[in-house]
Amino acid sequence: MTPDEFRKHAHDLVEWMARYMENVEKYPVKSKSKPGEIFNRIPASPPEKAEPFSSLIQDLDEIIMPGITHWQNPNFFAYFPANTSPPSILAEMVVATLGAQCMNWETSPAAAELEEKMMIWLRGMIGLPDNFEGVIQDTASTATLAAIIAAREKSTGFTFNNEGGNKSLILRVYCSEQAHSSVEKAVKICGIGRRNLVKIQVRDDFSMDPEKLDEAIIADKSQGFIPCCVVATIGTTGTTAVDPLRALGEICSRNSLWLHVDAAMAGTALILPEFQWMLDGREYIDSFLFNPHKWMFTNFDCTAFFIKDADTLIKTFEILPEYLKTRTRGQVNDYRDWGIPLGRRFRALKLWSVIRSYGTEGLREKIRQHILFASKLKGMILNEPDFEILAPVIINVVCFRYKPAGLDENKLNEINERLNHTLNDSGKIYLSHTVLNGKYTLRMVTGQTNVTFNHVEKAWNLIMMTARLL
Ligand SMILES: *Cc1c(COP(=O)(O)O)cnc(C)c1O
Repeated sequence: MTPDEFRKHAHDLVEWMARYMENVEKYPVKSKSKPGEIFNRIPASPPEKAEPFSSLIQDLDEIIMPGITHWQNPNFFAYFPANTSPPSILAEMVVATLGAQCMNWETSPAAAELEEKMMIWLRGMIGLPDNFEGVIQDTASTATLAAIIAAREKSTGFTFNNEGGNKSLILRVYCSEQAHSSVEKAVKICGIGRRNLVKIQVRDDFSMDPEKLDEAIIADKSQGFIPCCVVATIGTTGTTAVDPLRALGEICSRNSLWLHVDAAMAGTALILPEFQWMLDGREYIDSFLFNPHKWMFTNFDCTAFFIKDADTLIKTFEILPEYLKTRTRGQVNDYRDWGIPLGRRFRALKLWSVIRSYGTEGLREKIRQHILFASKLKGMILNEPDFEILAPVIINVVCFRYKPAGLDENKLNEINERLNHTLNDSGKIYLSHTVLNGKYTLRMVTGQTNVTFNHVEKAWNLIMMTARLL
């Protein structure tokens, strides 16, 4: 494809992209595709001869689009959002065009220095102390793995990397029973072992109980285990519960434990002064992450990872073969030493584009609206005697269920599961679920970039009507 041909196809594709944004609400939110359907429409072997790009666009519409779940449809209320925005998409086009590999400062100084500056901007926006340094990771899962590995090295005097695990040295990691599965995955694969992840009971509001944490640490120490790291969650995936950082931090400080904070989705709410209470106890934090790729209108992937002692992180991950030696080493940030992969995408550009295009004021306004929609939805649910709210509504997630009179718990679980599937199969809205205290719970998240109160109200009417017809 010559640059001139590229220009023509790119213009066509941009038209396609803008039309998609205009029409995204017309697609069924959740793909109606059946297993194997898309696979079987794709030829068994690759074409021998070059094909025109126009045939690819045609197949995009005919084969691919029916198999897409439309996360950018404002009627998408499932999971946590994975938002985009036009400024983010435009920046991704530039990044794809430059195709720079940003492993070292030298391999693109602008990428490293913009990343450093964007992390300083974000650190200020969310109210982390100035002694934190930031780096962009691909996902929260990777950032949590990096944090736990750094904590592992610190608590073993940097011997684990060299010597490997040692059966007489059993490290323990703690998180709440509502923490994300990425914590378990990290503990499982970093050599600490899944059985050494201690899941601490939660309180009525689904946040970690600090007394139970204290007891678990005391019990572990008395058995000769080495407590290593506590992972606190700000905004759990099930209900957006907020673990009490100050109480947990005091325990960590007393026992010299690493405190890692997973604020994957809810971290964005920290840009609002009225949500700064979630960071009370920030002085105890060793590492912190949040995902602009969830709720800050920035394309996947983009996890902002902050660490108080960057030297520990670098000491953990640094490796310096001859072919990576540069003359600027020590004067600049070589981010390949700040995490697991060597190769790195130029991710800071989309953050720069998003933050400049919205302004911090514009971002705050949007986030505030989403939070307001959730609280209004809660109000509407409370008005209906045959529905109930199942968890405190703190940020942008409402947990509820249909509870018609005269049904036992089993029947209620059954009818709510059926309600969830009926709604999702309709293609009109998409909700996901969790189980709270044995109750099948519908989760509605009001965080899609373009969601309005009108979408929320219509969705709620559809939910009520569908439930009462079951
Ligand atoms: C979504 C989520 C994660 C995982 O995020 P990835 O970036 O997809 O790895 C981790 N923790 C919490 C609390 C989450 O909500």
